[in-house]
Amino acid sequence: MSRFTLPRDIYYGRNTLETLGTLKGRRAVVVVGGGSMKRFGFLDRAVSCLQRAGMETRVFEGVEPDPSVETVMKGAAFMREFRPDWIVSIGGGSPIDAAKAMWAFYECPEISFETLIVPFNCPELRTKARFAAIPSTSGTATEVTAFSVITDYAKGIKYPLADFNLTPDIAILDPVLAETMPKTLTAHTGMDALTHAVEAYVSTAHSPFTDPLALKAIQMVFDYLLPSWRGDAEAREQMHYAQCLAGMAFSNALLGITHSMAHKTGAAFSTGHIPHGCANAIYLPYVIKFNARTAGSRYAEIARFAGLPATSERGLVNALCGRIDELNTALEIPHTLREFGLDEREFLDRLPSVAELAVGDACTGSNPRAITPAEMARLFTSAYHGGVVDF
Ligand code: FE
Repeated sequence: MSRFTLPRDIYYGRNTLETLGTLKGRRAVVVVGGGSMKRFGFLDRAVSCLQRAGMETRVFEGVEPDPSVETVMKGAAFMREFRPDWIVSIGGGSPIDAAKAMWAFYECPEISFETLIVPFNCPELRTKARFAAIPSTSGTATEVTAFSVITDYAKGIKYPLADFNLTPDIAILDPVLAETMPKTLTAHTGMDALTHAVEAYVSTAHSPFTDPLALKAIQMVFDYLLPSWRGDAEAREQMHYAQCLAGMAFSNALLGITHSMAHKTGAAFSTGHIPHGCANAIYLPYVIKFNARTAGSRYAEIARFAGLPATSERGLVNALCGRIDELNTALEIPHTLREFGLDEREFLDRLPSVAELAVGDACTGSNPRAITPAEMARLFTSAYHGGVVDF
């Protein structure tokens, strides 16, 4: 059975944070991260809106980047004691992802983390609380997706949770929050959004419901990412919406091996942590060239929709890769892992195991072309040196 699931309501526009004042309920928990939402005054505004709506409100602060199982369990215990009927998460991907997992353990205290990490195995939620998400970055789109990434630090593994029960009820896209993003974060999260849309469009699980969202998101990233990075507030707002469209697409169409590669190399090298969006930006053109053998016509459709100048399928695929290369250059993102600064010896040492792990990543299953560990190693090698992909 195919399914297409989105939040019930998406509020968008400047100062839509105030929408929180219209929610109906008795008690709300606000989940936030390390302090930027507090510093910029958004946490206080969120709390006063909820109080204005007549809700007793408590704040769970201090969700770390790459939230841990322990933080999730602490938050769930906090919720079990306070019994909120609204969970409101505000900030970057981490506090929203953590709040989604807290929500599951608050509603279903009897389930274990091992049960929840099995894809599409989450029990019915919403018997105790509904969920509102307010993103401050423009990339992960966790405010509209069925996913959450939680890290088990004891095992050193990042677990992606996936279930449509985890799709928030309300997403609030207030571009004023996104104005707080520093330049590099704007570049990386924007390229993550582009990768979401491109991978969703060529995914084996794409559908007539996800295709238009992906195409429009790609066109908007091409139009608005660079001006947004340069500080144009109007473009910053459009990027906040574009990444959300991309999220609506990939939450339902899934992703591909660009994400498999980024997931398994982000923290694999002592010579450099590669931020998620930066890794995607580096890998995407190489993956397009690899996938073009089976998905060339789909990439050509993207290039045509974006108005890139070429006619043949091959020409259109090259134009798409060229456009991404151009964007990376303009955003000061490296084109290869070597340029990023990874040590060659360490790269070669880790290559066989990283390639194997990337093939086994959850995102590989929906990639349009099957890949072996040996091919994955060749793809990584091309991305290291900037070599051609012709296999
Ligand atoms: Fe991503």
